This record gives sequence, structure tokens and C-alpha cells, in this order.
Amino acid sequence: DNRISRISSSIRVIPDFPKPGIMFQDITTLLLDPNAFKDTIDLFVERYKDKNINVVAGIEARGFIFGPPIALAIGAKFVPMRKPKKLPGEVISEEYSLEYGTDTMEMHVGAVQAGERALVVDDLIATGGTLSAAIRLLERVGVVVVECACVIELPELKGRNRLGDKPLFVLVS
Ligand code: IMP
Repeated sequence: DNRISRISSSIRVIPDFPKPGIMFQDITTLLLDPNAFKDTIDLFVERYKDKNINVVAGIEARGFIFGPPIALAIGAKFVPMRKPKKLPGEVISEEYSLEYGTDTMEMHVGAVQAGERALVVDDLIATGGTLSAAIRLLERVGVVVVECACVIELPELKGRNRLGDKPLFVLVS
């Protein structure tokens, strides 16, 4: 699929951001290329349009860029999974571990119903800690997590292994 190579070459790598030694994968340059951005959304929509998905759960912040156009195209609702103290209503929270310390992810109570089928969307999987927290949060309220979808995977970090039996679909490795 030559769409994948267009997507891949539109992603910029910035060395030593946010810290020395990190090669940051920057998807803002993908967003500057309307063809690459459209191809990205189209590839996800082609995969998920007939999978009876009711919920697209997008992870702050870049899951908020890719999740909503997918949700609109497949006729699902969009649910933001946010950093602590951002959502105004009652929330449920899930803690997860980072390289140093922990972080928390929050979702509004009542946003999803038990038995609904969700796709979890983010820009990138590194260690898999973020996606695994989103899966736990959704499963705690009885949602079926069908798959996780990211634009980019850093395979050497083996984040896939932290997702248990959940399938992960990525465009660029
Ligand atoms: P993980 O929890 O270690 O899998 O890290 C994934 C999270 O960190 C995602 O929400 C990403 O947006 C963010 N992240 C980590 N590395 C990068 C990067 O190189 N580019 C963009 N986002 C990144």
C-alpha cells in the first residue's frame, strides 16, 4: 500500500525531545500533508467500518486528533480519555506507571455503557503503559475493547506485550 510510505515519510523525527536520547516521532508534519492525513484516517476507517464499533476512545492529546474523524466516519461516539482534573463531570480513574513515577487517566462516568464495543486510538505506542491503562479503564465498566489502533509503533519497546490478548493495529513501525 503506497499510502503507508507516504504516511511514514510525512512523520518527522526530532532528536533529544523532550529529553536527551529520545527520538521524538512528530506527527504534526503528517497533519500538514492533507493527503497523508486523509490516507491515515482512510486506512483506519477501512479496517473498522464493519466491526460494530460503538465507541472510539481517544487518548489525550494526540488521540484527540486521529480519533474523532474515525468515529464520525464509522458512526461511533467519541470518548476522550484525559489527564487528571481536566474532565468537569464525575470520573473514573486508572493509574499507570511511567519510566519515573505514575500517571492517571480519567474518563467521564456514563460516557460508555457495559457491552459497548470500543476501539482505543492514540498516535503512538512505546511501552504500552498508556494503552493498557485505557483498556483497564474501559473493561472496568464492562466495555468490550475490540482493538487498539496507533499510527506508530516503536517495536523495540515491546509495548504490544503489555496489551495482553488485545489486538494492536499500527500503520508504521
Ligand atoms: P507508552 O505509554 O510508553 O506506550 O507511551 C505512549 C504515549 O506517550 C502516547 O500517548 C504517546 O503520544 C506518547 N509518546 C511517547 N513517545 C512519543 C513520541 O516519540 N512521539 C509522540 N508521542 C509519544
